[in-house]
Amino acid sequence: MDDLYRDEILEHYRNPHNFGTLDEPTLVKEGSNPLCGDRITLMLEINDDGTVKDVAFTGRGCAISQASASMLTDEIKGKSLTEIATTGRQDVLDNLGIEISPARMKCAMLSLETLKSAVSDRVAWQGKTDEE
Ligand code: ZN
Repeated sequence: MDDLYRDEILEHYRNPHNFGTLDEPTLVKEGSNPLCGDRITLMLEINDDGTVKDVAFTGRGCAISQASASMLTDEIKGKSLTEIATTGRQDVLDNLGIEISPARMKCAMLSLETLKSAVSDRVAWQGKTDEE
């Protein structure tokens, strides 16, 4: 541990919220940050009305990457995909509540980037017909 992290970050890191897998995920997306070795797999179950019914993730990596995934998954439960699309980097930084150095930025943003990419897959999927 090379930084002073807030207790809340360490708490999320040690006991991540929504850690695990879903039985019937609508969306599954993997993300990794090769610079640090962080990995996460994000699973989302989406209701017919486009809101997040449930979310889970598994992963390993540094405290920042795992804590931000834990906090982000808490935050998006019940939200619509449209709301998720407007979630930005600043929201993630606000969750973490500490200064993130440029070297750690990819760790902090891994879960958000994975989420955004899962949601854009979903949007693409909705535009397709059943034959595909
Ligand atoms: Zn990291």
